[in-house]
Amino acid sequence: MSCTHERETSHWVEEENWYTGEVEGRWEWTTVNTTIDIDLHRYKCTQCGEIMYYSGRARQYYEEGIKFDWIKGLDK
Ligand SMILES: [Zn+2]
Repeated sequence: MSCTHERETSHWVEEENWYTGEVEGRWEWTTVNTTIDIDLHRYKCTQCGEIMYYSGRARQYYEEGIKFDWIKGLDK
C-alpha cells in the first residue's frame, strides 16, 4: 500500500451512560496529516520521505535548477 500522507490514530474513550449508569467505551479515530514544511515552497511526508511542492515552479526550481525572479530569495 502506498503512503497517502496521512495516518489514523485511535484511542479508547470511555463514557458513563447517563441512563443506565454503565460505562461504555468506543474507539475514536483521528486522521493526522504526516506532511511537514521543509522550505517556503516544498513540504515532505514524514512517513515515506516523499517531497512535494506547493507549485510547479517550485518543483522546477528544486529538481531542474530553473531560476525564477520570485523565487530568487531562496538562493543562499
Ligand atoms: Zn507519504
